[in-house]
Amino acid sequence: MTIRQLPDTLINQIAAGEVIERPASVVKELVENALDAGARRIDIDLEEGGVRLIRIRDDGGGIAADELPLAIQRHATSKIASLDDLEGVATLGFRGEALPSIASVSRFALTSRRIGNDHAATLDVEGGRIGSIVPKPHPQGTTVEVRDLFFNVPARRKFLKAERTELGHIEEWLRQLALARPDVELRVSHNGKPSRRWKGEGDLLSEVRLHEALGEEFARNALRVDHAGGAHTEGSGQGLRLHGWIAQPAYNRASADQQYLYVNGRAVRDRSIAHAIKQAYADVLFHGRQPAYVLFLELDPRRVDVNVHPAKHEVRFRDARLIHDFVYRTLQSALAETRAGTTAIGSG
Ligand code: ADP
Ligand code: MG
Repeated sequence: MTIRQLPDTLINQIAAGEVIERPASVVKELVENALDAGARRIDIDLEEGGVRLIRIRDDGGGIAADELPLAIQRHATSKIASLDDLEGVATLGFRGEALPSIASVSRFALTSRRIGNDHAATLDVEGGRIGSIVPKPHPQGTTVEVRDLFFNVPARRKFLKAERTELGHIEEWLRQLALARPDVELRVSHNGKPSRRWKGEGDLLSEVRLHEALGEEFARNALRVDHAGGAHTEGSGQGLRLHGWIAQPAYNRASADQQYLYVNGRAVRDRSIAHAIKQAYADVLFHGRQPAYVLFLELDPRRVDVNVHPAKHEVRFRDARLIHDFVYRTLQSALAETRAGTTAIGSG
């Protein structure tokens, strides 16, 4: 066999394999781009569970017409420029891979008007083949259209599930987002009908949104937590803040389906923190039952490495032990306070 350099489209399709698993992954990447662009309102139009169409429009800062081709270039990003930037990164994206990956496995169009510019433009890509920049009216912000996901990757397309299942994955991801970003308005439509609207509220997750996202039972049993680590005691979690809502033990689940954890605004899975939370509940939950929570951990971005996983579902902490203990102690004392007041424990 001779060694040869792969063509760009194939490289992008290989990269797409890592981050674009299904329509929900496309929605995630595009909505994160909208948030990074400072959007206040995001419209999400879906057809056939997102397989036929995903159209995401935002009112963020937009992209200048002459930069449209760059936006779909691999490893092209406006979010970092150096290793130092990467280590302190505060945006959701930074790899410059999402748009080229998505564009290589769909019929793709990027339309945008940059803030302060008079004109908007659009660029089409079909299965990686890039068209030319064409003027097109658009208000400030960006619209990305993704049609026929995996039309050119039959092996992937085969694994897509029924419309309802794919829509369910998208809705679950949007719920996760709605909990983290109550300040942003989200409007969703499916097959031409409005299906969900999250009204923009303040910066703080309200009981209203909590109720909408996780149901009345959760909201009724939710306990507000907000604790910042002090500077004085060694190992007290200096510079750490944990806030959000945890369900009182009387409200518990058979599965881990209402466990939302965010690190610096990014939804992540973390074994160590999940363990700390479970431990905090150990004395107040029946064996086998799962706690429910929406928790936000904030810390200096330099103390956490987000560049661990291509889809960024996982992070690595510099001082994992300290964070584990901080989370455990914060929740344990919050739960102890409620226990002093009531005796409701578990519900089987
Ligand atoms: P990343 O988000 O990692 O930078 P992407 O491939 O997702 O990589 O996007 C590439 C670039 O395109 C971004 O860095 C940004 O400059 C621009 N971009 C993408 N989506 C938007 C959007 N909705 N609004 C403004 N700019 C965008
Ligand atoms: Mg991105």
